[in-house]
Amino acid sequence: MEKTGIFILKITTMRRSFTLLFFLFIVLSGQSQKIFIWCGTLIDGKSDDPKKEMTIVIEKNRIVSVDKGYTTGGHGDSTINLKSRTVTPGWMDMHVHLEEETSPNRFLEEFTLNPADIAFNAARYAEITLMAGFTTVRDLGGTNVNISLRNAINKGIVKGPRVYTAGKIIASTGGHADPTNGYRADLMGDPGPLDAVANGPDEC
Ligand SMILES: [Zn+2]
Repeated sequence: MEKTGIFILKITTMRRSFTLLFFLFIVLSGQSQKIFIWCGTLIDGKSDDPKKEMTIVIEKNRIVSVDKGYTTGGHGDSTINLKSRTVTPGWMDMHVHLEEETSPNRFLEEFTLNPADIAFNAARYAEITLMAGFTTVRDLGGTNVNISLRNAINKGIVKGPRVYTAGKIIASTGGHADPTNGYRADLMGDPGPLDAVANGPDEC
């Protein structure tokens, strides 16, 4: 009987705990947390002059207000102190190729990297680009890894900027995206529309 009593007491305690946790969950989910970013200097992209001592308030991943002075929230809210920094909107780069990076080995990598290698590199370059301050980029062409990269970023699998891309770039012979640029003649062949090389509207 005593064991049963203890057992019942445990069940009762657990139920109370569950009830309390559930209640807390409801309360917490009802009041979303805010992030207060204290900006020593803020370039907001609207006014001509930088603003001093401002606070950006973020809720549910959206900016809900930009306030004068350093403001704080309530319990559960957080603050990011950038009083000694200048804060700007996310930057945009309208010409990137996230699958690759300029390096002395860049030309050689066209012959050594498999699609999976390109994908791993692209994920790394995307995160580097984001952490450099670029929150939106236009990727002007790649091997279609850039499409998968964009989708992975959108799903939250990979960290990176918003990517706008059409996948593969169309170029004229010898143009920026002619995949045979720099090859010797017998390797160059005669790339055409299937290689995304088009000379004039008739080949597009
Ligand atoms: Zn380019």
